[in-house]
Amino acid sequence: MSTILVIEDEADLARLLDYNLQQAGLRAVLANTGAAGLAQAAREKPDLVILDIMLPDTSGLEVCRALRSRTLTKDVPILMLTAKGEEIDRVLGFELGADDYVVKPFSMRELVLRVRALLGRSVRATPAAETGPLKLGCIEVDRTAHRVVIDGREVTLTALEFRLLTTLMERAGRVLSRDQLLEDVWDITADVETRTVDTHVKRLREKLGAARDYLETLRGVGYRMRDPAGSA
Ligand code: CA
Repeated sequence: MSTILVIEDEADLARLLDYNLQQAGLRAVLANTGAAGLAQAAREKPDLVILDIMLPDTSGLEVCRALRSRTLTKDVPILMLTAKGEEIDRVLGFELGADDYVVKPFSMRELVLRVRALLGRSVRATPAAETGPLKLGCIEVDRTAHRVVIDGREVTLTALEFRLLTTLMERAGRVLSRDQLLEDVWDITADVETRTVDTHVKRLREKLGAARDYLETLRGVGYRMRDPAGSA
């Protein structure tokens, strides 16, 4: 059974999360301060952390940074609970590297779907065929080392952006609809906001720098990774 660490000081919301995660067959561990959360993370080795941005003793952003800097939790999927839209860029960005976020108020159904998606990704075994290096134009991906090099420069991606990039690269030249990407990258088949895809594609494209133009938007259809060699 997967253990979910919930770091949230609002007691009512923490209880609601606890209840809904249990209903979903997951084990929840609660912490109501950043310090308690970090202590629980070391003790429980959670499979995923749900982290509120506003905590009484410290910011959720600091807790996220601390989790990422520790060997034990550097790869744990982190789902941030945010109140303000403007912090999302920092949350998902290079600086902090949370894997996903939901904006309060959110539905418990959506939250559980996001949790399942993140768990599915980290638990899923990687078949041998999916571990070889990928190369497209100036983008080089080492899937085993989880490294992305663009134009000779290493780029740091979140777990979700990495999966989005490799999914697009594996099927370079083909158009992937938002629904397909939700299914393959997020493991979500239910009717979830497809805008999530747009947000993450936008962030990924910013990080691609010199290779940003490879990632094409087909209005009303989806996205496509252009093969710069093949289409020349
Ligand atoms: Ca809070």
